[in-house]
Amino acid sequence: MKGVGPQRADLLKKELAIFTFNDLLQHYPYRHVDKTKVTKIIDLNPSMEYAQVQGKLWYYETVGEKSARRLVAYLKDDTGVMELTWFKGLTWITKILKQDENYIAFGRLSFFMGKPQIVHPELELAKPQLNGAKNFLEPIYPTTEKLKIKGLNGRQLGKLTESLFLLISEKDLPENLPESIQKKFQLLPRFKAIQQIHFPSSPALYEQALRRLKFEELFITQLRLAMVRSERHRKSKGVIFEKVGELFNSFYHNHLPFQLTGAQKRVLKEIRSDTVSGHQMNRLLQGDVGSGKTIVALLVMLLAVDNGFQSCLMAPTEILAQQHFNTISELLKDMPLGLHLLTGSTPAGERKYILQSLAEGNLSIIIGTHALIEEVVQFKNLGFVVIDEQHRFGVAQRASLWKKAEIPPHILVMTATPIPRTLAMTAYGDLDYSIMDELPPGPQPVTTVHRYDARRAQVMDFMRSEIDAGRQAYIIFPLIEESAKLDYENLMSGYENVKAFFPEPKYWISMVHGRQPADQKETNMQRFVRGDTQIMVSTTVIEVGVNVPNATVMVIESTEKFGLSQLHQLRGRVGRGGAKSYCILITGPKLGTEARERIKIMTSTNNGFEIAEKDLELRGPGEIEGTRQSGALNLKLADIVKDRPILEAAKKTAEEIIETDLELGAAENLQLKQYLMSLQGKTPWSRIS
Ligand code: ADP
Ligand code: MG
Repeated sequence: MKGVGPQRADLLKKELAIFTFNDLLQHYPYRHVDKTKVTKIIDLNPSMEYAQVQGKLWYYETVGEKSARRLVAYLKDDTGVMELTWFKGLTWITKILKQDENYIAFGRLSFFMGKPQIVHPELELAKPQLNGAKNFLEPIYPTTEKLKIKGLNGRQLGKLTESLFLLISEKDLPENLPESIQKKFQLLPRFKAIQQIHFPSSPALYEQALRRLKFEELFITQLRLAMVRSERHRKSKGVIFEKVGELFNSFYHNHLPFQLTGAQKRVLKEIRSDTVSGHQMNRLLQGDVGSGKTIVALLVMLLAVDNGFQSCLMAPTEILAQQHFNTISELLKDMPLGLHLLTGSTPAGERKYILQSLAEGNLSIIIGTHALIEEVVQFKNLGFVVIDEQHRFGVAQRASLWKKAEIPPHILVMTATPIPRTLAMTAYGDLDYSIMDELPPGPQPVTTVHRYDARRAQVMDFMRSEIDAGRQAYIIFPLIEESAKLDYENLMSGYENVKAFFPEPKYWISMVHGRQPADQKETNMQRFVRGDTQIMVSTTVIEVGVNVPNATVMVIESTEKFGLSQLHQLRGRVGRGGAKSYCILITGPKLGTEARERIKIMTSTNNGFEIAEKDLELRGPGEIEGTRQSGALNLKLADIVKDRPILEAAKKTAEEIIETDLELGAAENLQLKQYLMSLQGKTPWSRIS
C-alpha cells in the first residue's frame, strides 16, 4: 500500500498486529471527531473527556530533569493559551514542531493546577478547509507511541484506511450472512457496514454499522462453537454406561448420607443421558461453593465402575486431591471398592503398585493431581474423567487425559467459580453446560460485615470468642504481584499483630504464603486442617477448595484490593460445617467507588452467580480468571456484558442454523460457508474441544 514502506509495515505488525488489508479494516476507530468542531480554549472544562483545539504554536520548551524531563508547547487561540505536553519522543517532536504555525491539536483533556492541557496530543497542521469535501466525522484509531513517532497517530492511521477503500470494492468484502438473517435483524450489508464504521456519513449510520458488525462477530463465534459441539455430539465416539448397577444402587440407597438436591438430581440426569448416547460427553458443571459437586462426580464414577470402566478425578493441588480422597474414602468406606491417591509425593513403592493396578484394570477409581497426566500412567479402560477447579488446567492438559483410552472417556469439568452465563456461552461455548444453582439445606448462610481497620481490636475480640468456643479462623492478606514486597511486609507485620492478640501457648497460629517451600506450606496447612492450630494467617494460596468445617470466621484484610469472585471464593472457606459462620471484610478508611460497590455486593448476597455477574460488569471479561487465554474472547467490537441482547440473538440464530443445516449446504447458507472456509485455521476453537 502506498504510504506503508518496510519500516512502517514492520511497526504495524509489531505494534498492532496488522499484517494484511483485512487486519487494517478490522482495526476499528475508537471514536470519531467532528472535524468542523473546534473548542475555544476559554470554553474547555473538566467535563470534556476529549478536546480538539486550533491555534498558533506560541512557543515551546523542555523543562525538568532526567526522568521528569518533558516538552511543553503553548498553543494560543483568540481566547487563551493552553499547554500541550510530551514525556516521550522529545527529540523527534522538537524536530517537527514549527513555531508560529497553525495547528489542530486533539487528545484527552486534563487539568493541571486549574489549567487545561493535553498530554501527548495528536497534532496536525491546520490546512485551509476544502469546501465540505471531507467527511465531517473523522475516525480516530487506537495507536501506540512508536507508531506516532513514525507518523501514524490516531488520525493518520485513518489515511491508510481511507486509501485502502479506494482500492477495494464490494466484491472484496462479500456478504457473509444469509439474507433471511439480515432481514430479520435489519442489518446493513457487510461492505457498507465496514465502510460506515470507519467513515460514517452520519451518527445514525455509524450506530447501524456497529450493530451489524457486532452481530456478525458474535454470530460467527457462536456458529463455530455450535459446530464444534454438534460435531462432537454426532461424530465423536463415546463409551456407553448402559446400566445403573449394583454399586451405584447400593450406594445411593444405603450409604448416601443425605437426600440429593433437585439440582444435583437434574445434573445427574443430564450426565446420564450423555453417557448412554454413544458420544463423548464434554460437560462443564458449574456450581457455587458448597453446592455439592463432589457427590455428583462420585455417583457418576460408580456408574462407570458398574459398567466396567475406570474413573479418575484430578484436582489442581496436592491438598485438594488429598481432601477429595479423604471425603470419598469416607463415603465409600462400607463399599467393596478400592480407592487410591496418586500425587507427586506418593512413595515410589506405592506408586509402582498403583500404576500396575491401573494398567491391569484392578483399580477402578483413582484420585490425584497433575501426576495423573504423566505418560507412565496408563489405564486399562478409562471411561470417565472428572476435572475439579477447571481453570487451573490448560486445554492441552485436558486433552492429554482423553488420549489415555481408545475411545475417549467422558469428561466432566467442575468449576467452583461461577461464571456468568454470557461468559460461559462464549469462553466455554464448545462444552455442554450444567448448572447447580441450589445449595443443600444445612448451614445458615455466612453473615458478612464490613469493618474499618480502626476497629480491628473488636474484630480480634470477636475472633477470640469464637476460638474460645472451639472454632477456628482464617485471616487473609492480599498478595499482588506488583506490590509483592510491600504485601509480604504487611503479611509479616499482620502476623506479629495477630500473635500479640493470640499469644502462645494458649493459641497457635499457622502461616502459609507463596514464598515458603512447598513442604513447609503443606505442613502448616495440615496443622490447621487437623486443628492443631486455631488460626490460619495466609495469602490467597488457600483460596480454592480447602475444607475445614470447624472454621467459622473469615477475616479479610485490605479487602479493597480483592476482586469480587476472589472474595466470594474466600468466604466459601467458612460455613462448611453446621455452625453459624462469619466473614469480616476489613478495609482502610478511604474507599474508591468500585471498592465500595464490591463490599456492598458482598455484604448483601451469598449467591455466587449474582456475584459473578456483577464482577463481570465491574471488571470486564478480560479480567475474569480462566478466560484470558481462551481465545474465544478475542472480540473486537462486541462486549458480552453490554451487548448481551445481541449475543443471545446471535447464539439462538447460530444454533438454529446448525440444527437444520450442519454442513451449511443450503443455497442460502453458501456465502456463510465460504466465509467460514476463508477463516479456516485462524482461531484455535476447533482445537479446544
Ligand atoms: P462443592 O460443590 O463446593 O465442591 P462439596 O461437594 O464439597 O461442594 O459439598 C459441600 C458440602 O455439602 C459437603 O460437606 C457435602 O457432603 C454436603 N452436601 C452435598 N450434597 C448435599 C445434599 N444434597 N444435602 C446435604 N448436604 C450435602
Ligand atoms: Mg469442590
